[in-house]
Amino acid sequence: MNSIVIGSGFGGIATALRLRAKGHQVTIIEKHPDLGGRARVFRKNGFIFDGGPTVITAPYLIDELFELFEKNPKNYIELSPLKIWYQFIFEDKTKFNYSGDENEMKSQIKKLNIEDVKGYEKLVTFTKKIFEKGFIELADIPFDKPFVMMQQLPALLKLKSYKSVYSLVSSYIKNEKLRRMLSMHPLLVGGNPFTTTSIYGLILYLEKKWGIHYSMGGTGNIIKGLEKLMNEVGVKIIKNSEVNKINSENNKITGVEINNETKISANNVICNADPPAVYEKLLNTKNNGSFLFKLKKSRMEYSMGLFVYYFGTKKIYDNVEHHTIKFGNKYKEHLDDIFNKKKLNNDISYYLHRPSATDKSMAPEGNDCFYVLVPVPNNQSKINWNIEGEKMKNLIINKMENDLMPNLRNNIVEDFYLTPDYFEKELNTKFGSGFSIQPKFTQSAYFRFHNKSEIYDGLYFVGAGTHPGAGVPGVLSSAKVLDKIL
Ligand SMILES: Cc1cc2nc3c(=O)[nH]c(=O)nc-3n(C[C@H](O)[C@H](O)[C@H](O)COP(=O)(O)OP(=O)(O)OC[C@H]3O[C@@H](n4cnc5c(N)ncnc54)[C@H](O)[C@@H]3O)c2cc1C
Repeated sequence: MNSIVIGSGFGGIATALRLRAKGHQVTIIEKHPDLGGRARVFRKNGFIFDGGPTVITAPYLIDELFELFEKNPKNYIELSPLKIWYQFIFEDKTKFNYSGDENEMKSQIKKLNIEDVKGYEKLVTFTKKIFEKGFIELADIPFDKPFVMMQQLPALLKLKSYKSVYSLVSSYIKNEKLRRMLSMHPLLVGGNPFTTTSIYGLILYLEKKWGIHYSMGGTGNIIKGLEKLMNEVGVKIIKNSEVNKINSENNKITGVEINNETKISANNVICNADPPAVYEKLLNTKNNGSFLFKLKKSRMEYSMGLFVYYFGTKKIYDNVEHHTIKFGNKYKEHLDDIFNKKKLNNDISYYLHRPSATDKSMAPEGNDCFYVLVPVPNNQSKINWNIEGEKMKNLIINKMENDLMPNLRNNIVEDFYLTPDYFEKELNTKFGSGFSIQPKFTQSAYFRFHNKSEIYDGLYFVGAGTHPGAGVPGVLSSAKVLDKIL
């Protein structure tokens, strides 16, 4: 069996390894000179900037890939559990250290609202149920037939999946700060907590189950370890090569064409590239696909865009934790502007990453390394990032100076930023969305792009746009779905 994987994000690499372990001849083709997709690494003057994922959860899904070939993951990667998972900062400058230490959690909750301690306990118990159904049972099963979805609907309704994550959390918790904190998880996978199905409440429990980890040397070191493994086990890696066409005959896939010149034939083509962009640009689905598929595709709602500002400082900010989340005042309004009105709002919320809090190797000696991520509208907004980019950068620096890093501007020695344009043009993502399609109930499981194409024979999808969805555990699970159907 000859299989081609297009794209080397976590989902693509995991699929290449899983198919190789089953005996397929596997070629993975990546547009860029380096692997990892959203998890690429940018190195600048001694600073190591992980491009994307930084919060590593469910580490067993990474270990499994090494274990498929009876290799010890510890010989390739080093994952280290974090004590404080996130430090939340609110507009009134109060802080909350979110962690897996339940006593510590409850004593902080008590200070905010004593009645919410009980509600928190009940919420955790409920998210455990969602986790057991939504993650343990359903994350790696193929949802390519309607009856699979029908079978699951009663259980999903019992778990209140028609509610949003925010509304589920609010049914247990009264304090607004706690509500925001305990319902923010959809933002990690591209959804608005006010509209994302409460199935994604499972992330709250998933973090508790296996903890939050950091990959020493950066997340890029996991990609490096997996690349080494692929070379050892005979996965052929082709870099610097963009697939510009997927060939088919009578709806049966026959192979791909790269860089407008070389044709490679294959029995199966597995796309780690964004499904809507693949259907539109690499396959001519205008004249193809059922009415229902076209309708589904045209009604899809896309995740927000991301503005990511990477910076190194000559000052060490010891007061900044490894992961900080700052909520703006008009949180709900801000999210509504981003997801629905598709416009910018100055009252930003942000996530600040400081890997050098745990790992000094990420910055030159005496320096500190950061990235700050701000959710922004995706490119359906038509925002001109050549104009808005600098403005956004300055707004973020001002906010951070005011919130926790005084005099920041004068201490920055290295910086650059990525906007939705990077995600659209460089990573080939429709509308430059940060996480492909949104994780709404009407776009989950059977309603997402299927792992086994609903149109072409021999065409498959893994990664953020398919089941189960975005985030490293999600895309690694999508590779397990493929393992079951190919
Ligand atoms: C800034 C940021 C922070 C994040 N933080 C976290 C986090 O802390 N924890 C977490 O779990 N998740 C996080 N995520 C989400 C997570 O990173 C992604 O959901 C996941 O990495 C996506 O993996 P993927 O398999 O879908 O592939 P992608 O990473 O999207 O990779 C797809 C690859 O396909 C390639 N490609 C596309 N088209 C072609 C073509 N035609 N020919 C050849 N190659 C092609 C692209 O170049 C790319 O390399 C974050 C994401 C971002 C952007």
